[in-house]
Amino acid sequence: MTAPPRKDPAAVEAEVREKIHLEILKRTGAYHANDHVLLPSGQHTSEYIEKTLVTTEPSFTEGLGAVIAKHFAQWPVDVVLSTGPGALILSHCVARAHPSRPIVVYGTKGLTGGKRRVSLPAEFHRLLRPGTKVLLVEDLVSTGSTLSLLIDLVEQLGAHVVGVGCLWRRTSVDVGGKPVFSLVSRDFPTYDPEDCPLCRKSVPLNEEFVRRRHHRRPSSIQEPKEP
Ligand SMILES: [Zn+2]
Repeated sequence: MTAPPRKDPAAVEAEVREKIHLEILKRTGAYHANDHVLLPSGQHTSEYIEKTLVTTEPSFTEGLGAVIAKHFAQWPVDVVLSTGPGALILSHCVARAHPSRPIVVYGTKGLTGGKRRVSLPAEFHRLLRPGTKVLLVEDLVSTGSTLSLLIDLVEQLGAHVVGVGCLWRRTSVDVGGKPVFSLVSRDFPTYDPEDCPLCRKSVPLNEEFVRRRHHRRPSSIQEPKEP
C-alpha cells in the first residue's frame, strides 16, 4: 500500500500564511467575501476589497509590512518606492522593518492625452541614481500596469528594481518578470450580468461600492456655527 500523496510542506505553510493575511484584511473591514457585488466595470463578483480601508489599522499594517520586509531582507535596498500616496503607509512600514534602512519615496499617477503615466516628484529624482536598489511597494495589484510603468521609469534612471512587495495580487499578473511577493494571491472570477451565477440564484446585488464612487462627496471640515 502506498501512502496518500503528501502536500509539499512549503506549499502548506504558504497556504496557512495566506489564510492568516486574508483574515487580517477581513478584520480591517476591507475584504468582503460571499457577497454579490456590482463592480465599476458593470461586472459582478462574489469578493471585493476596499482599497482605502486596507491600511486603517496601524498594528496590522506594521505587521504586514514587516512580513514583506522580511521576505526581501536578504537583498540590500536603498529606496522603497511606493506606487502612489495610497500605498505610502504600507511602504513606510516595509522600509521601517527592512534591515538596510531604506528611504521611502512615492510615484504619482496621472493621465496625459488619455494615456496612463507615472512620474516621480522632481525632489525624488536625485535619490534614484544609477545603481540605486529599489523595492516597489503596492497595496493591491490588479492589472500591474502602474507597476510596469514605474519599473520602466526606475530603469530609465539607471536604478535597479530588486522586486515588488504587495498585500494583494491577482495570481495571473506578471510584472515585468520581476520577483513579486504578495501576502495574498487571489484571482476571483468576475461575470457579465447575463452570465452571473449569483444573479441566477437571485442573490441580492450589492451596489454599495459603485454608488459610493459616483456619489463621493468631498470631505471637508465645516466651520462651527455661531451660537
Ligand atoms: Zn450577478
